[in-house]
Amino acid sequence: MHKVLITDDIGSAGLALLDAAHDVKYDVVKLPTREKMLEIIGEYDAVITRSGTPLTADVFAAARELKVAGRAGVGMDNVDIDAATLRGILVMNTPEANTLAATELTLTLMLAMCRYLPLANASIKRGEWTRSKFLGVQLHNKTLGVIGLGRIGSRVAIRCQAFGMKVIAYDPYLSEEVADRIHVQLVGDLDELLAAADIITVHTPLTDETRGMIGTREIARMKDGVYLVNCARGGIIEEQALYNGLVSGKIAGAAIDVYSSEPPRTDLLKQLLALDKVVATPHIGANTVEAQRDVAVQIVQQVIDALRGENFRNVVNLPFAEGVDYRSLAPYMSLAEKIGSLHMQLIQGRIGRVEVEFRGEEVEEHVKPLTVALLKGLLAPILSDAVNYVNAPRLAEERGIVVSQTRHPAAEDYSNVILCRVISTRETRLIGGALFLKMQPRIVLLDDFRIDALPNGPALIVSNQDVPGVIGKVGTLLGANNINIAEWRMGRREPGGMAMSYINIDAPTNDEVLAQLRALPMILEVRQVTV
Ligand code: NAD
Repeated sequence: MHKVLITDDIGSAGLALLDAAHDVKYDVVKLPTREKMLEIIGEYDAVITRSGTPLTADVFAAARELKVAGRAGVGMDNVDIDAATLRGILVMNTPEANTLAATELTLTLMLAMCRYLPLANASIKRGEWTRSKFLGVQLHNKTLGVIGLGRIGSRVAIRCQAFGMKVIAYDPYLSEEVADRIHVQLVGDLDELLAAADIITVHTPLTDETRGMIGTREIARMKDGVYLVNCARGGIIEEQALYNGLVSGKIAGAAIDVYSSEPPRTDLLKQLLALDKVVATPHIGANTVEAQRDVAVQIVQQVIDALRGENFRNVVNLPFAEGVDYRSLAPYMSLAEKIGSLHMQLIQGRIGRVEVEFRGEEVEEHVKPLTVALLKGLLAPILSDAVNYVNAPRLAEERGIVVSQTRHPAAEDYSNVILCRVISTRETRLIGGALFLKMQPRIVLLDDFRIDALPNGPALIVSNQDVPGVIGKVGTLLGANNINIAEWRMGRREPGGMAMSYINIDAPTNDEVLAQLRALPMILEVRQVTV
């Protein structure tokens, strides 16, 4: 049974999914205090939050069983991702579920700002009829500057084009092809956008680079009478600079859903919100019935899938590129892990280098996750559950293991093969693996012996002089000790030279039998492994 802790309101559709999962038990403890969280978190395998519960380093330290932390929503400001990564905890969010809600709020705010909607609404409700006071501007024929042309930015761009706006965007991490597809002109630097736009809307995440990216200097470069929208994250637009710009008249209006501190209680924010030119909402970008339902359902499904090891969507600290179908990658991940595990069980001496070569179109596209899987497999025999996909690279680095990868689009004998050379203080070993029928892992190279072995369960790896009678003697000895042989795969360099056998056995054997095997004539090395 996987135990899940829910600390925020995630809605009935999400809870219904949890109720239906036969292998999940859950508790709802809404917005626990830090002390309460530290007291209870230890017993849970997963935690699901919104923005209300801080998942800090001390919470992760106390979370002995935690494997997954799920944030229903996008922003991860309340989650210490580094602390989770260090402890091998997967952190996931639901970046797509509230995209449309945030997009529509951006449009709502933009229109409301341009037409003085809140003021006009309040005025008529007071019984007034003062139309001339609310002389607005149209979106039509204006230039919109989008900073951050991601999920929300691009959707805002498309919708604004429907209003007859020209859309330009600044996003140094996006290719021109993507912008071209939605008829948005990507500008080379921020200043170009600032100088050309009538309305500027920010849609980047809050990072060290984007914090304060619109400040006094940037506002000075904007057109007089510019309008600004921040529906992304508080702090991307410097609030003091924004206030000054509004008061001086440089900025005609601002629409804000997010603040550097929420709720906005500082004097500066109170002054900013008091300005008539500011249209503000209390961080309700994701607040639609549809988004709330989708966010909850998505995060619960993602957490359940990850706990079951079936799929890892939207994990922010996993090396999977967006859009990768984990199911098709999974057999290769398993193969890479088995190669790593075999290495660790076979190698003698302290490992200094791991050189991985990916040959073939299917594997060379996924160098990063497959390397991580290989390192996880390598470290698992010595670190057990403490190593996982999240922390394997860090743990390898901490142990002084230098990892290198090379990739080649075309393989030789197999359409896709992963070759891994491990160099230790005492020896260098090489293991190659491929998939049979795209599903079944095979070890196809053991040092310089070509074989076709099934890395599944306990096995004996035996090297010997290739002379008649060795197989018979080994088979007889195993039989005499009641050890059933499942498969026997052998490779040899040349007749009469050295041979290497990979013998799958039904159950692991003991040291005494291994010693008897080693004592047989012509046997050079016997190792027992379990993969
Ligand atoms: P996204 O990751 O799809 O897009 C972000 C884009 O910003 C990317 O294209 C990225 O390349 C770009 N970017 C990153 N750094 C940049 C920089 N220095 N300069 C220019 N561009 C940069 O994210 P998204 O889903 O579109 O979300 C955008 C923002 O909206 C996030 O901050 C998110 O937290 C916020 N959001 C707010 C609400 C709300 O309730 N108001 C709801 C959902 C999302």
